[in-house]
Amino acid sequence: MCLIKRLPVTLDRERTAQEVIEHYELNVHEACIILDHVNSGQYPDERYEDPAFCVDPTQPSINPISPPEIQIIFGESNCKQLIWVSREIVESFETSFIWALSHELQHARQNLLYPELHLTNRFICSYYSQVFRVEPYLIDIPIELDAEISAMASIETLRGEETLNQHLDAERNRNHNRREYIDNLLQRKSGWPGVIEATRSLLFARKQRLVHILEQQHAHGRHTYLNLEWILEG
Ligand SMILES: [Zn+2]
Repeated sequence: MCLIKRLPVTLDRERTAQEVIEHYELNVHEACIILDHVNSGQYPDERYEDPAFCVDPTQPSINPISPPEIQIIFGESNCKQLIWVSREIVESFETSFIWALSHELQHARQNLLYPELHLTNRFICSYYSQVFRVEPYLIDIPIELDAEISAMASIETLRGEETLNQHLDAERNRNHNRREYIDNLLQRKSGWPGVIEATRSLLFARKQRLVHILEQQHAHGRHTYLNLEWILEG
């Protein structure tokens, strides 16, 4: 795995990044991480409004929207997954950094192991409000909940349970929304069936509606790469 630093990074922070990378056991050609000198929301495209994200660099949708210097890195990289991390994450508290990097590395792992899983989740997310009649909360989307649970496990493994609990308490004390989010996350973590099973349950909860939408989309030549059978048939 390659680590590209576009800002001065302390030795400690670099060591932490390496520890997290090793924890995720991805090969050198599987993922590349860019630690950027730019904060989120400072590049024109909305993709860069997220503090960090993970993409397949061969996706045609990602290159044109990236700033030229990032496009060059994408073009030269032969990695299968690219993780962009904003400056505010690189310079955040250590546990927040571990959390964010772990979350994205788990997305890389999901995408490498089960590409259909990622596409299915993106499809469900796009039509979630139409099908479930409510806007999705981040962790209503199984790949997101899986990445959050993985980030917590990563902090616990690398820094211990006490550090994780301190981090969760600090997050809870930030504001009411954060408290609600963390409590919700912990509640969903217990009894978590795993990302494939969770995606399957969500799909089955509105199976007819989602299959119908997908058929309509296919008729218009959209989402043609997506096939729900792999998950509907187990
Ligand atoms: Zn995510």
